[in-house]
Amino acid sequence: MGSSIYDFGDRPGVRDMGHDEVAQIAGGNKNGVGKSIMQKQRWILPVLLAMCTVVVSCGRARAPDAVFLIVVDTLRPDRLSAYGYRAHETPHIDRLAERGVRFVHAQSPASWTVPSMGAMLTSFYPTQIGLIERQNVSMVAIGWQQRRQQQAYTLQLVETTLAEHMQRAGFRTAAFVDQPFLSFRAGFLQGFDDWYYPVGRVTIRKHDTSEPIPAEPDTAPLVDAYRSDSLLIHEFDAWLAQNEDEKIFVWLHLLTPHRPYLPPERYLPDSDEVPGPGERYDAEIRSVDDMIGDITRIIRSRVGFARTMIVFTSDHGEGFGEHGMVEHGHTLHSEVVRVPLVVVAPTLSRGVVEVAVSTIDVLPTILDVTGVGVPPGLEGRSLVSVIGGEPREGLLFSEGMLYGSTERSLTAHGYKFMWDQQAPSRLYDARADRDEVNDIAQTHRAWTNKLEGMLAVLHNRLAQDFTVRQNAAEPVDSLAMQRDEERVLKSLKSLGYIND
Ligand SMILES: [Zn+2]
Repeated sequence: MGSSIYDFGDRPGVRDMGHDEVAQIAGGNKNGVGKSIMQKQRWILPVLLAMCTVVVSCGRARAPDAVFLIVVDTLRPDRLSAYGYRAHETPHIDRLAERGVRFVHAQSPASWTVPSMGAMLTSFYPTQIGLIERQNVSMVAIGWQQRRQQQAYTLQLVETTLAEHMQRAGFRTAAFVDQPFLSFRAGFLQGFDDWYYPVGRVTIRKHDTSEPIPAEPDTAPLVDAYRSDSLLIHEFDAWLAQNEDEKIFVWLHLLTPHRPYLPPERYLPDSDEVPGPGERYDAEIRSVDDMIGDITRIIRSRVGFARTMIVFTSDHGEGFGEHGMVEHGHTLHSEVVRVPLVVVAPTLSRGVVEVAVSTIDVLPTILDVTGVGVPPGLEGRSLVSVIGGEPREGLLFSEGMLYGSTERSLTAHGYKFMWDQQAPSRLYDARADRDEVNDIAQTHRAWTNKLEGMLAVLHNRLAQDFTVRQNAAEPVDSLAMQRDEERVLKSLKSLGYIND
């Protein structure tokens, strides 16, 4: 391990795009993971070596059949001690990382929850699945309700989700989701047998997806993320007790440490000074670290680790003024799109991977490791080969804004190019300037132009793909969506997305 996506390609001059690079941008990964790797003869030896590494490290382990996708909303990796943070310890997340593979450079394909999670749960970019801002009008400017009626932030039924893949393979599926954007009425329930969500301050409700969607609107937004996350974990424990002998797939989505940063008192610094936003955010992270400890204890006692796969990640990071902005949803700079990623499975070796990857790789990785099988045509690729030490060619792409003008970013050839509809493009050295401090677009015009061209080709393909999918899509249940409006609106107001 130790190779990086940024290491491929020559830097002294601009070279033409290679065949594989053109194919990936223009045609996607249409051949699926296995074939695309074997097309490159020079990869065969590393692939075989990687396979050996995995086999040697895993012994007689069988494919896991208890899979847990744990997403901690708004979690910056550089605030975790596993990722080198020194201001505090996050021991439970550290232990999880030691148990599996920690990806040093993982990136979200979007700057906020809905496009990010839509992409993670389908392995397609936000533009392809329609979870994207349109016509450069922000959600806040024209109103959440109107945007919902445009179905801009609804995962269409035509998409096949990770849960659907698992369900079809015989897994019992359950979601425990504490995030008002990821409403089960907004298409995210596809493929789940059971859906648990918080209502009010003390109630966790279960929706049995074999039943019609309930008619009554939910009320009383829940802003105490620590409390609702804890309640969801309690329900998760009870659900697991009922289903521990089954093949299971669980998505746990915790809202801590999303703003408004209201951690329990005991997690705040013992100081007379009023803690600032960064300190409160850190305190929330310490609280969610304890919750990760609870979750892993529950998994160990109910299922054990011999048949368990855990993917731990986030949907995006959080800004604290690094580029003049706070929170998320308005920029694709590293503080917002970098996420932690840890993969634990008995069939995988442990360690640290420096290859840059995207969370759109989560779906094919789970389908690969569990033996369910990776369908062709996904944008993401299984991470099994890079875990085994294989270098990877490719690019990183992010898009999907909640506020401000449309932005897109492309990382390739060791550079990160950022395109902004209303501002000059920027270019950063993706290896030497990971915090994106020095814009070198003007001094590296050739690379700026090259990546701009690559980005345009890629985005055109994604937009065309969306048109094809839209023509195949069935309309969503708009009546059910309207019933959900009140609860979602209240929750979004309480989280500060919308003003009265
Ligand atoms: Zn989020």
